[in-house]
Amino acid sequence: MEELYQTHSIDSSQNTPPPQQGETQTGDLLVMGGGMAGLSFAIAVAQAGLNVIVLEQSNPAELLEDPHDGRSSAIAQGPAEIWKMTGVWEAVKADAQPIEDIRVSDGPSQLFLHYAHKDLGLHGKEGGLLPLGYIIQNQAIRRALFTVEKTVENLTLVPNARLKGPGNIVQTKRHVEVTLQDGRRFSAPLLVAADGRGSMARQAAGIPLSGWSYHQTGIVCTVHHEKPHQATAHERFLPSGPFALLPMVAGPDHPYRSSLVWTEKDRLVPSMMALSDHDFAMELEKRFGPWLGWLRPMGKRFAYPLSLQHAHRYAAGRIVLLGDAAHGIHPISGQGLNLGLRDVAALAEILVDAARLGQDLASPDLMQRYEAWRRFDNLVMISVTDSLNRLFSNDVLPIKVARDLGLAAVDRIPPLKRLFMRHAMGVVGDLPRLMRGQPL
Ligand SMILES: Cc1cc2nc3c(=O)[nH]c(=O)nc-3n(C[C@H](O)[C@H](O)[C@H](O)COP(=O)(O)OP(=O)(O)OC[C@H]3O[C@@H](n4cnc5c(N)ncnc54)[C@H](O)[C@@H]3O)c2cc1C
Repeated sequence: MEELYQTHSIDSSQNTPPPQQGETQTGDLLVMGGGMAGLSFAIAVAQAGLNVIVLEQSNPAELLEDPHDGRSSAIAQGPAEIWKMTGVWEAVKADAQPIEDIRVSDGPSQLFLHYAHKDLGLHGKEGGLLPLGYIIQNQAIRRALFTVEKTVENLTLVPNARLKGPGNIVQTKRHVEVTLQDGRRFSAPLLVAADGRGSMARQAAGIPLSGWSYHQTGIVCTVHHEKPHQATAHERFLPSGPFALLPMVAGPDHPYRSSLVWTEKDRLVPSMMALSDHDFAMELEKRFGPWLGWLRPMGKRFAYPLSLQHAHRYAAGRIVLLGDAAHGIHPISGQGLNLGLRDVAALAEILVDAARLGQDLASPDLMQRYEAWRRFDNLVMISVTDSLNRLFSNDVLPIKVARDLGLAAVDRIPPLKRLFMRHAMGVVGDLPRLMRGQPL
């Protein structure tokens, strides 16, 4: 890794503990937010030799508390490749449930769409048939990221890094400086904003957002069921929004379990959240049907208000946006984090290549290249998820008939089906090296 720095001077204090009040710790990159996108990015670029400081407002131990956010993520093949290349996969693979089939249905209609990994026939490096993706609990993803993060020498994770406001992020001619509430200061030529939808770093950069509320809420919890899920993800479109049951690896207390994402109109959510487990189970069975036998909600339920947001630009000066800080989408097809991971691979490649050439990591050229690479892809997914939600979240009869015929038609056109599957798997388009299984 040494050659990376021949033209890039590094402060040797990088690997020492975070600074005391009055000192400033410097790095090649500051990453604001040690969430799933921020840490994936930090690990990738630090492994390639850059000195990276991650400022995370929470405490990892608290983040790993069971249950932290209750969600599982559907991770597509392409983005999973990034974790395979950075060692995160080794730490998470035992918790990753392969998705072999996806069954999409429109309410109780008999017309449905069935995606099967066998129809696609894509083979992995080891020769086996690749699944369409994986379902992994967010908690397991975070645990794996924190495990790998500890093994990367030139990566410093600063927990409890709280900011008073965007005014504490200041851009100078050559650096961005961040001052925490407790007075600790950090600085680097570039700040990567991975601090989620409410990004303070984005506000500090003065980048506006477009978007709207869906007036829908995602109710999330783990569900035990009577029959095995057969590695099948179910997505059922109901008038108030999509209802998904996503297969999970066997749990310690029950072998058959799935992750529920039930999208409901905002106004109905408080009463659904207040139901007893028994009544909630009755509502689930009514909506989902008999596919998995009885259904039992387990543990805490979580409610996520759903909205769409997209930043007008992905960079301003020495601040660049990544993941949900740049785009937040409807979870209808489980693509939000997948887009964030695509950002990770593209930005990591651009910055590591630039560092090798000794370029200023915040140079406008690099920032434009990143925006050109990622904006269109993100915009396509924003439009697809938004349109799907509009198309399916209603029970207007002519629309319902048309969409059911559409589902059935796609089901009968194998090449179109394969194209959709490849898109959802994240294995098409101008893929960055990490997503092609190549090192940075
Ligand atoms: C119901 C639901 C289901 C979903 N299902 C899927 C799915 O199946 N597949 C999928 O790909 N996506 C899914 N998503 C989307 C996915 O959860 C998000 O896209 C993803 O969590 C974004 O990751 P991130 O790291 O960019 O942001 P976040 O997860 O928001 O992480 C941001 C991090 O920054 C920290 N932070 C915030 N502010 C500061 C600050 N000022 N200083 C320091 N640190 C800060 C936070 O503590 C956090 O750790 C779903 C979303 C919802 C709501």
